[in-house]
Amino acid sequence: MREVDYLLVGQGICGTLLSRELLQAGNSVMVIDDHSPSAASMVAGGIINPVTGMRMVRSWMIEELLPFAKKTYEDIGAEFGVQLVRLCPILDIHVTQDARSLFVDRMPGEQDYLHEEEEGQWKEYFRFNYGINRIAPSLLVDLQGMLQQWRSKLKANDAIIEEAFDLAHCTIAPDHVVYENIKTRKIIFCEGAAGGQNPYFDLLPWTADKGEALIVSIPGLPRDHIYKQGISIVPWKDDLFWVGASHDWKYTDLEPSASFTKSVETQLSYWLKLRFEIVDHIVARRPANMERKPFVGLHPLFSSVGIFNGMGGKGISMAPYFAHEFALHLAGKISLTPSVDVRRFTKILSSKNYG
Ligand SMILES: Cc1cc2nc3c(=O)[nH]c(=O)nc-3n(C[C@H](O)[C@H](O)[C@H](O)COP(=O)(O)OP(=O)(O)OC[C@H]3O[C@@H](n4cnc5c(N)ncnc54)[C@H](O)[C@@H]3O)c2cc1C
Repeated sequence: MREVDYLLVGQGICGTLLSRELLQAGNSVMVIDDHSPSAASMVAGGIINPVTGMRMVRSWMIEELLPFAKKTYEDIGAEFGVQLVRLCPILDIHVTQDARSLFVDRMPGEQDYLHEEEEGQWKEYFRFNYGINRIAPSLLVDLQGMLQQWRSKLKANDAIIEEAFDLAHCTIAPDHVVYENIKTRKIIFCEGAAGGQNPYFDLLPWTADKGEALIVSIPGLPRDHIYKQGISIVPWKDDLFWVGASHDWKYTDLEPSASFTKSVETQLSYWLKLRFEIVDHIVARRPANMERKPFVGLHPLFSSVGIFNGMGGKGISMAPYFAHEFALHLAGKISLTPSVDVRRFTKILSSKNYG
């Protein structure tokens, strides 16, 4: 029987950053991950945008989350000798006069993030009638690169099992958990959208949110900005661009949809003055929830069972900060931020017969 301090299920951004924090704190860790093609972290654009939504509202806790995330990704990059994060301003290319007015109206109150932009230089690349503004600082993270680097490190340390976790093979006791030939103090579920089917946490207020993006070749488009007009054009690997994303809360399958391709193709044909070619179409479920706040912490009835999930569409900004907080909490050093602590759902999680 192999003994580890923590067993983590899932190596998306949540499992990656929490396992790193736990290891840094001196724990032993084993991660199990089945490389699901619909893992959100594998298709995410990599953007940290401080001001989001139709109403240009400052993202929750962004003053703390953005600098913490930047430092975390810089540190991980330095560990592996690669660049994982860079400042990448977002150009908001307004689609209507109303959209421009809304941005301009918000500028005095959001001087840290909303700025004027010199438009002339962008006329070579885009058709636009209502002007351009800039959102900065915003970050672009090579999430898939980070996950690959971390997976290699876990493999080298014999700390990852690359297969599906099966709860039927798990015995949960108050002070330990046994999974096949592994004994651990605690099991922490970092399963992304699959967490909605986990019998320990299925009563949390999950929502389904399918997201699609296209990978597009756009020769000649500068790679030092993110371009946004409803959808975003984001620098991606191999000189390509990621273009997305959709939100579909009523999906019936996780297949790439022809309607998404058609609508993006139509928009790009009008918007871009450059030639483009679609080379791939990627899809995943976001681990979204009705509160738009993470699920972090130990189950109120099973103290050997935890969760690190619920990042919705903002895992890249939220996961670094709360992975750190969760690791400190597990070490008994701090309390969790109440609005992310999964024990805010104690009543509903206690209403179930766990057999
Ligand atoms: C199209 C799209 C674009 C996005 N763009 C952005 C963006 O620009 N910025 C941003 O901040 N966020 C973005 N997001 C959201 C972001 O992707 C998520 O918040 C984040 O990736 C969630 O990470 P996670 O680790 O919780 O889940 P996941 O990335 O889904 O990882 C879960 C992992 O658990 C594994 N797993 C699950 N169940 C099991 C099991 N039983 N056994 C073994 N392994 C298991 C899966 O294989 C997977 O590897 C986007 C999402 C989508 C869909």
